[in-house]
Amino acid sequence: MRVKSLVALGSLSALVVSSPAVNGQSAALVKVTPLGSHAGELCRNDRALVFEDPTGVRILYDPGRTVDETDARLGDVHVMLLSHAHTDHIGDTRPVPGGGTCAAPAAGPANANSNFASIAALKNAAVLAPGELSGYLSRKIQSIRGTAPGACAEIGLDNVFDVPLGAPCTASLRPGGSRTARRAGTSGTGVRLAAVQAIHSNGIPGALVDSPGEPPGLSGYGGSEAGFVVTFTNGLVAYLTGDTGMFGDMDVIISRYYRPTLVVLNMSDAVTLGPNEAAYMIKALVRPRSVMPSHVNEQATAGGATVAGTRVDLFATAARSYVNIVVPVSDVTRSFDGTGLCVGCR
Ligand SMILES: [Zn+2]
Ligand SMILES: [Zn+2]
Repeated sequence: MRVKSLVALGSLSALVVSSPAVNGQSAALVKVTPLGSHAGELCRNDRALVFEDPTGVRILYDPGRTVDETDARLGDVHVMLLSHAHTDHIGDTRPVPGGGTCAAPAAGPANANSNFASIAALKNAAVLAPGELSGYLSRKIQSIRGTAPGACAEIGLDNVFDVPLGAPCTASLRPGGSRTARRAGTSGTGVRLAAVQAIHSNGIPGALVDSPGEPPGLSGYGGSEAGFVVTFTNGLVAYLTGDTGMFGDMDVIISRYYRPTLVVLNMSDAVTLGPNEAAYMIKALVRPRSVMPSHVNEQATAGGATVAGTRVDLFATAARSYVNIVVPVSDVTRSFDGTGLCVGCR
């Protein structure tokens, strides 16, 4: 139970707080579909993932440069999460389906509204973003639709909003906070969306700042970056790291409080943690059952198989003895049960 309650214990009153995993772990499956640049592969620019809860709630995370609103792979999108505003996550250029190579995907024309806002505007999505991004994204959606999106509903102690929506909405989601997306007409708890810390940065690219813009070389203020913990109705708890380095609260808060069983791990190195840090983080800090290495900034696979000498290969070699590694190749849907086990994965 995630509800806090005061419980009298004899002469004592104790604040009872436990994990937000309100949903018992079940065999129902959460579907996870990567929407990358090249089908069947994990490529340099790949970030976008669609999660589908057993109740039908569909969540798009960090679309980046590999998907825009014209992409038939999207289907319904009820909720969109943005970890931070960097170009490779918000999407500053439109995709060229299958264009270029997995190691160097082709970039289409610039999208001054961002792929993220273009998708949210068309799909009537609930937009959840950290820092000061919800106001920024509201303005972008207004530029596309002509009307400003409303604030997402937050009903009851679980801050519930029902989907699908008839128009987009936006809301800020900051570390410690959470909201719940519930499929209209279903009973039960819905999908819990919580923000957690990330250590990175969150400047809004100057090219995506409307007039009067920023001085050359500067970016817009976006507030703090974030990761997310998504608790699905089958009990699966997915930790989406966003771009980040390691920090101690991956253990103290994220692991011990939220208890993730699946981690989507951004591990490109140089500007985020790399494969060595990723292996340590999984073994010593977070300890999930399954991990999806993502945001790898390389061609990680060929014919769907991990290429030797890549970051993913290095990570897998170090970590495979203590975690299930599920490589998120584009357009291949993986299914996770409530315990974090990938069902049908090899
Ligand atoms: Zn970044
Ligand atoms: Zn990034």
